[in-house]
Amino acid sequence: MSRILIIGAGGVSGVVVKKCAMLPEYFSEIHLASRTVSKCEKLQQEAGKDRVVGVYAVDADNVPQLVELINKVKPALVINVALPYQDLPIMDACLETGVHYLDTANYEPKDEAKFEYSWQWAYHEKFKQAGLMALLGSGFDPGVTNVFTAYAAKHYFDEVQYLDIVDCNGGDHGKAFATNFNPEINIREITQRGKYWENGEWHETDPISVREDLDYPGVGVRPSYLLFHEELESLVKHFPTLKRARFWMTFGDAYLNHLKVLEGIGMTSIHPIDFQGQQIIPLEFLKAVLPNPGSLAEGYEGMTCIGTYVTGIKDGKEKTIFIYNNCDHAKCNEEVGAQAVSYTTGVPAMIGASLMLQGEWMKPGVYNMEQFDPDIFMQKLNKYGLPWQVVEVEKSPFSK
Ligand code: NDP
Repeated sequence: MSRILIIGAGGVSGVVVKKCAMLPEYFSEIHLASRTVSKCEKLQQEAGKDRVVGVYAVDADNVPQLVELINKVKPALVINVALPYQDLPIMDACLETGVHYLDTANYEPKDEAKFEYSWQWAYHEKFKQAGLMALLGSGFDPGVTNVFTAYAAKHYFDEVQYLDIVDCNGGDHGKAFATNFNPEINIREITQRGKYWENGEWHETDPISVREDLDYPGVGVRPSYLLFHEELESLVKHFPTLKRARFWMTFGDAYLNHLKVLEGIGMTSIHPIDFQGQQIIPLEFLKAVLPNPGSLAEGYEGMTCIGTYVTGIKDGKEKTIFIYNNCDHAKCNEEVGAQAVSYTTGVPAMIGASLMLQGEWMKPGVYNMEQFDPDIFMQKLNKYGLPWQVVEVEKSPFSK
């Protein structure tokens, strides 16, 4: 039985729904639920009513509502592409109904930006005892970047020692300011303090204060800034030989200037303020006025380049490789009406789900992507739209 329930109907969901709809051999029946049912109906129309057979309104913060829906649909797996705030309620509902779980982002409490796995890892024993599996972070970063690291460790090194994950969006959507995935989560991520792992401990940096100008295949040189990203936490846990692990993301000057102004006037705050007798969260208000990431696809030009530099020891010698994917915004739009950031997240979610349902990645408990054999996932990336390259690098592109 490979009936799935997808929760969330935003930019990433559009890709997951359409990619799953193209593969009846893995996903026999698709059901789609979100807060706003009209968004589910639109996706159902686009993917075909014969493939997306049911659409539902659900508040995924509400466990009893989720339990009722899951009991009605009876899926084998829930794919959570709503927001990180909903991870724990959906995991609770999966445990109560005996259904496997997959997501693309770690749980976040609303009132604090933490980006850590502690809450979800704490569910490991419960999932294990129930004979259920939860696959965490099956997007691109986290997700494919974890698989790239596992692939490098398996095939290219005796010991992995240094890791630099790089995320470049070299595309242009023509808007003054927009985020490529949910604005609330994206801005929380960027405005938090930077953090990286070195010699057995975390080191903090001021937000957007450490810069390297890196040359990305298919894109060119782009300013890249050190950020904390959640996959660093699981990768340093699962690859204890890592001496250093960092994450870099590119931002243009216009984007950073807008962000600076918005931050300066308090618009990115996640703490409630009183507005005309009502409590509102400035960042939620900002999200409401910014372009919806799912709407950016039309006319988006250029490519993303996301990958992993790994340095380590092979046969007694040090070497560095770069594993990466280039994804073209316009091609994604042609294929599924999405921009490349939604596409690079949605395709790995579909692949992770197919591997779970086929039993290839299936064991009771809560797991990160690097805890499974990377080879089959890497093959499927090539097959389903995210081909990757491995190059040996003569000299590290990082100045420090
Ligand atoms: P969107 O904002 O476009 O979509 C989120 C969807 O979730 C919306 O349809 C929204 O409903 C729905 N939703 C929000 N709250 C609830 C709720 N309480 N109950 C039911 N549905 C709800 O976000 P994206 O598609 O850009 O991102 C989806 C997820 O993917 C996020 O968790 C994001 O962090 C993650 N992501 C992961 C990446 C990776 O590489 N690993 C990269 C990019 C994103 P409504 O339309 O009514 O608001």
